[in-house]
Parts: sequence; structure tokens; C-alpha cells
Amino acid sequence: TINDSSESDTPRDKLIGGLLTADFDEGSCLSRYHKSLLYRKPSPYKPSEYLVSKLRSYEMLHKRCGPGTKAYKEAKESLGHDEIYVGECRYIVWIAEYGLGNRMLTIASVFLYALLTERIILVDNRKDVNDLFCEPFPNTSWLLPLDFPLFNYTYRYNKEYSRCYGTMLNNHTINSTSIPPHLYLHILHDSRENDRMFFCQKDQSLIDKVPWLIVGANAYFVPSLWFNPTFQPDLMKLFPQKETVFHHLAQYLFHPTNQVWAMVTHYYNTHLANADERLGIQIRVFRKDAGYFQHVMDQVVSCTQREKLLPESATQEESKVNISKSPKLIAVLVASLYPEYSERLKNMFWEGNTSTREIVEVYQPSGERIQQSDKKLHDQKALAEMYLLSLTDNIVTSARSTFGYVSYSLGGLKPWLLYQPTDLITPDPPCVRSKSMEPCLLTPPSHGCDADWGTNSGKILSFVRHCDDLMYGGLKLY
Ligand code: GDP
Repeated sequence: TINDSSESDTPRDKLIGGLLTADFDEGSCLSRYHKSLLYRKPSPYKPSEYLVSKLRSYEMLHKRCGPGTKAYKEAKESLGHDEIYVGECRYIVWIAEYGLGNRMLTIASVFLYALLTERIILVDNRKDVNDLFCEPFPNTSWLLPLDFPLFNYTYRYNKEYSRCYGTMLNNHTINSTSIPPHLYLHILHDSRENDRMFFCQKDQSLIDKVPWLIVGANAYFVPSLWFNPTFQPDLMKLFPQKETVFHHLAQYLFHPTNQVWAMVTHYYNTHLANADERLGIQIRVFRKDAGYFQHVMDQVVSCTQREKLLPESATQEESKVNISKSPKLIAVLVASLYPEYSERLKNMFWEGNTSTREIVEVYQPSGERIQQSDKKLHDQKALAEMYLLSLTDNIVTSARSTFGYVSYSLGGLKPWLLYQPTDLITPDPPCVRSKSMEPCLLTPPSHGCDADWGTNSGKILSFVRHCDDLMYGGLKLY
């Protein structure tokens, strides 16, 4: 149960090893300093001192350059001119696209790029970011003001856009003597080789001079940053434990608003707090006719039993034998668009009907059926469920799902990943235990830069390898 008194037995580490600044008022965003109360054990992953100091300097820079400052006004006005603006502040604007999991992964990626290149991150505020997350930086705002001139809808950000970096490379319209005041970066599943040249060292030295970058992304592009020799030394110092990048950045950036936090704490206290063990299961079905499928249900059961995450259900006679011993309570939190998965699981574990000494209780907070991104309450439920999943002890998630990636990584958990089924067949084996708690970059560059050109990108660095949940491709930090 959450203990809000500051005199709890073990002193709570509300600043998460210095990751968070103490400069915020608690009431306006309860999750920021109360989050650590929900975790039973302190996180074994501590942020490096270098990360902590870099975050504090970033916060000062953001305050100097953020919306409402003289610097911001000047930089914004420079967008109307062709001559290059050389002020103190350079910006990177994140555009909201795709589902919430994708959004959180790309905000974290853009923020890390901003840290490495001393830019200011501003997030697209035309959707519901503000209903989901509190401000992460003190005494300023990360929300891009709505009157931002490049969002006046006369521009469309896509590959055809004339200031799209990949397009400019294709058309030879960019070089060190003609730097544009802004560039659009297309880092999506359908980006071209030239769009992905963005990550290369030579390209970065030019891009560094552009005052405004606008990013459309649906890929967790952090692994790509490690290939750049300019960024690598800094990244090594920031994250000596390489698989903790998203874990730390997410804990730093994403603080659910009081409304979302109330959903999380209420559900947690009601259903999960008193269990001896919590198991999270996230079931995402990537099919046109998505819904309840027997082969997916079989896969979940087979994975959780094989990996001894859940007991096998047994005959009544066996369970009678065990009745005298004090049972262990396992709370299972199911997240899925379809309520049928938890209903079936619940039926399987009718109280006491397990072959061992365990009682299994199954809960599913919502069953929205259809993805409705940008609908406030729908997105808030999604965020609340990601947080609830992150608070479990063991977690099973669906391969390829960024919703799942955020949930386990936020919690610092190495998940069991359910392979994506082909046709209507339960994969064998049904799942794999991931060796890393990092999200996977689903669409990595197929090439390296310069010397590494043409090399399999999963073989260039020992700690950036192919993802364990995909049959081929994908890159992940290990
Ligand atoms: P991905 O498509 O699995 O990579 O994850 P995204 O989060 O990017 O997009 C899926 C969206 O569908 C989510 O953001 C939610 O809006 C919705 N959704 C999918 N699965 C669930 C779930 O288990 N619970 C809730 N509440 N929403 C879900």
C-alpha cells in the first residue's frame, strides 16, 4: 500500500538517486515524487553521476531557451528569414504520431539526442500530451506554443516535404554552404537510407548548425545514436549500464498527471498491493481482424506455465490436498484491448484450483477493443496500464509492441516476450526471456556510416545486437 508519510520505516528515495530535481512543488504532480513509494524494492539501477549532472545543466539551458524567453522569441522569428540564425539556443521539435507507446519511445529518443547535442526539446501540444504528463523541467515548459509558425498547417511533414533531410540529400540541395533555418527529419518505419544518414557523424556536423529540427518518428532510435563516434564517449559515461537508457530517461521524463496517477494508485491499492507476487501480461494482437484468438490464449498459457510464472491448474482432488498449507497469492494484471483474455484466464484459476500452493487472481483494468489514440480518457487508461504493468514483479509482453516495451523498461524488468504468431498457429517456443530491458528499434538502418557501410548493423558493436523478440532485424542495447 502507498505510504504517504515521510516517516516510513525505510527512507524513500523520492529523487531516484538524484535523477529528479527537487525544484518542483509536490501537489501539482503527485506521481513525480510518490512513484518510488509503490516499488517494494529499491531499483538496482542507479543513474550515473554524469547523467545527473547533465540533466541539471539541461534544465538550466531549457529554462534559458524555453517558451516565453527572449531567446525563444528571437529563434522563432528567425524562422521567417533565410539567413541563418546563430543564437545561443537551438531546438528540436517532436511531433505526436502513432500510439502512446511509440510516442513515449520517440520522446525519450529525441530527448537523448537533445542532451547529446545541447538542443532544447519541445513537444507538439496539439494532441493530449498535457493530459497525460506533467512538465518534466522546472520553471519552464516543454510544450511547444500553439502559435508555432511551422505548425500553421500549410506545411505537411512527410518525405516529400522540401526541407525533409533525406529529400534534400537526394536532390543535392543541402551542403555546408547552404544551411536551412529548419529541417524535417523522417525517422519512421518507411524512412529511406538517406533519411537514416541523419545518424552519421559527417551528416551530424552539418545538421548541428541548423537552429530548428522537426522530428517525425515512430522508432526508438537510441541504438542508432551509439554508432556515431561523436556521441559514443558521452553515451558510455551517461549510461555505463547500457540497457538502462530508456529506464532512466522514462523515469526522468514521464510523470503521469494527477488524474492518471489517481487511476494507477487506486487500482494498485485495490488489486495488487496485497499480493505476494505480481505478474503482468500484455497481450497485443497485430492483425487486421484483431481480437480474441485461441492460439494467442494458448500461447499465453503455455509461456506462463513453461516459465513457471503461473501454476498449472489441477484437478479438484489435488487441490484439496493442498488446502491446509498457507497459500501464496499471485495477482495477475492483464492489459489488452480485448477483455476475453483475462476472462479465460480467470476461469482457469478458479480460486484454489491450482496444483501448487498458490491462489491466482486475475485482473484487467480495461478492454477498449479499438485503438483510439488522441482520445483523452482512452490514452489516460493506456498510460495508467503501462504504469501498473511496470509495477509488477514479472512481466510477459507481446513482441514488437511499443506499449509492452515501455511497460517493462519503465519498470526496469527483463520481460518474457511472446513471439508474434504467424497465421493461426501458436509459436513454439511460445516466448523468450529477454536478456535486456531496453526497447527494440524495430526498423534499424541497414547500413553503417562510412567505414562500416554495408555491414550488418547488429554486428558492429558488441552491445548493440538484434532484438530477441524478432525473427530477423531490429536492434537493441544489451
Ligand atoms: P503498439 O502499437 O503496440 O506498438 O503500441 P502503441 O501504444 O504505440 O499503440 C497502441 C495503442 O492502442 C495504445 O497506445 C492504446 O491506445 C491502445 N492499446 C493497445 N493495447 C492496449 C491495452 O492493453 N490497454 C489499453 N488501455 N490500450 C491499449
